[in-house]
Amino acid sequence: TTTVYYDEDADTDVLADHTVAVLGYGSQGHAHALNLHDSGVDVVVGLRDGSSSREAAEAEGLRVTTPTNAAAEADLVSVLVPDTVQPAVYEAIEDELEPGDTLQFAHGFNVHYGQIEPKESVDVTMVAPKSPGHLVRRNYEHDQGTPGLLAIYQDATGDAHEVGLAYAKAIGCTRAGVIETTFREETESDLFGEQAVLCGGVTSLVKHGYETLVDNGYSPEMAYFECLNELKLIVDLMYEGGLGGMWDSVSDTAEYGGLTRGDMVVDEHARENMEAVLEAVQDGTFAREWINENQANRPSYKQLRHAEKNHEIEAVGEDLRGLFAWGEDEDGEEHEGTAE
Ligand code: NDP
Ligand code: MG
Ligand code: MG
Repeated sequence: TTTVYYDEDADTDVLADHTVAVLGYGSQGHAHALNLHDSGVDVVVGLRDGSSSREAAEAEGLRVTTPTNAAAEADLVSVLVPDTVQPAVYEAIEDELEPGDTLQFAHGFNVHYGQIEPKESVDVTMVAPKSPGHLVRRNYEHDQGTPGLLAIYQDATGDAHEVGLAYAKAIGCTRAGVIETTFREETESDLFGEQAVLCGGVTSLVKHGYETLVDNGYSPEMAYFECLNELKLIVDLMYEGGLGGMWDSVSDTAEYGGLTRGDMVVDEHARENMEAVLEAVQDGTFAREWINENQANRPSYKQLRHAEKNHEIEAVGEDLRGLFAWGEDEDGEEHEGTAE
């Protein structure tokens, strides 16, 4: 059974005599640093020289130094630079990690696939909010929580679990609930989810649906609304009430059509492909491919990005979104779908 931790299971006093180094001040970094700071934890931000994030961190009253100096000062080092640069950043801080320090991650990729081999004398934890950083921050400011994961890779001190939970509480995750997992489970399920369903699967489904309508003479605008724009409404219903909540809200015709046709589109063959995608995650094939791709300066990645940007659905969408007041305002808050 799954263990879920809440505020009462965690004690931030554990961090009272700690200095926490937050390396990186991007999506997760700014949220963790600010939430820790507001929870009374001593925070130092580690950024490379000339970092574009430096000004933003200093404007919030945070201390900024280099990753190496921040790690030297800290008892807990939270590695929140992009996954692809973490191995190099780890090399720059390894000598500063003292026995009993904590090395903390928000995703398990580098540790799980052996790109970072933490020294044995430190605790290695993962507190991973299941949400983009700006929501981790916004929720905290609104006295709300962000669900998260906790995993212990290495427990040198015997206190890794307690420290991890304290960190999770200080960034607001135990307000919502924190699920216990492992580096392996988090890494593999995260990669599979984003590849097969969330990012990869869903964009392929949208593009194929769009192309099918347009190739058969329907207008691109109609195809865009039907296959992309309305997806949000369906996902919102699933988010609130699961699949059942969605089926309850659509018409009987949509429900019957969906229940009979869905498995025709995403059929057993698609399921077999998902197994292959999972296998490449599990046996490290995907990780090796991605590491090599980065070492080669991302040739395929750049090409794929370019092709995706140039898909007709993107131009159609940009025009349509401009005609309706459905964008986001400066605070990132959503507008209602009405004209201004
Ligand atoms: P970002 O891409 O937002 O991190 C950018 C920050 O890292 C900037 O401050 C940037 O500063 C700094 N940085 C980039 N390159 C270097 C470098 N070579 N040396 C030092 N600093 C550098 O990262 P994310 O927040 O997206 O990801 C951080 C971790 O959190 C990852 O492990 C990720 O998997 C995990 N995670 C991310 C989630 C998300 O929604 N984004 C969700 C859950 C987990 P500069 O101005 O110098 O470039
Ligand atoms: Mg991911
Ligand atoms: Mg319809």
